Amino acid sequence: MTLKDLDDAGKDVRAWCFECARGERVDTNIWELFARRHWPMGLDAAARQFRCTECGSSEHVRLYPATRPYQPPMTGTDMVAAIFFGVRAAAKAKRRDPITERAAQQIAESRAARNAPKRAAAPPPVLVLVWSKP
Ligand SMILES: [Zn+2]
Repeated sequence: MTLKDLDDAGKDVRAWCFECARGERVDTNIWELFARRHWPMGLDAAARQFRCTECGSSEHVRLYPATRPYQPPMTGTDMVAAIFFGVRAAAKAKRRDPITERAAQQIAESRAARNAPKRAAAPPPVLVLVWSKP
């Protein structure tokens, strides 16, 4: 049995490390990568290409057929909902936080004030005397 056979049958593969007793489901569309690299696709031979993220070894890894999680077909309503919520999430992410904005502005202003060249104090305004008409 090869990875491609499993993919054609709508199955995935579970890579299991017997050293660490941990495993992960892998989508069998990975057979295309195996084909490109001319790696053997039989489950026993292909297992040598999977390394455990815990122990870093492929020695104790075995591959087993696994059920592919069910993904319901997307209806028109689903698509509209995905677009709507996607747009809303993007707008939310783009919205600015007024508190952060104000803080950043204050910091920029204080820096600008500190770095501004010292200017001579402006001369006092000219005193103009005005008498009200009697
Ligand atoms: Zn391991």
